[in-house]
Amino acid sequence: MSESSRVGLGIDFHRLREDEELILGGEEIDSPLGTVAHSDGDVLVHALIDALLGALGEGDIGEFFPDNDPEYEDARSLNLLQEIYRKVQNSDLVVENVDATLILEEPKLNLYKGRMEKNISDLLSAEANLKATTAEGTLFKGEGIAAQVVVLLAEGPG
Ligand code: MG
Repeated sequence: MSESSRVGLGIDFHRLREDEELILGGEEIDSPLGTVAHSDGDVLVHALIDALLGALGEGDIGEFFPDNDPEYEDARSLNLLQEIYRKVQNSDLVVENVDATLILEEPKLNLYKGRMEKNISDLLSAEANLKATTAEGTLFKGEGIAAQVVVLLAEGPG
């Protein structure tokens, strides 16, 4: 890629159910409901992976980690992110910043936000900003969760 900057967008949805874990940005969230998923169901990291792949022009997460592949059963999504981040490291670009929004009714994520941002920020060596909003009960009625992420890749220092 010869471009000096590249933008990428990712979005992901998961269903929520009782007796499942809720992992977001690599943090285990105390919640009565968790995501139904083949991997750990980390919607935030899945959307981030898609955003990175979008910026790189390399397709989407399903092409790299098919959700019917037993190898990725209960896979830790931060490890999958690490794998995709190598593609950035192998390019002339660096991650400039990450901006993300989680959409869920509950629980409130204030307690976890800093740690989620740090997990992402440390892994990508970039600023990460995380926001959370409810859909005011209109979209998922507490039965689902979504994340939307934008990343900017920019020319590296060398
Ligand atoms: Mg997903």
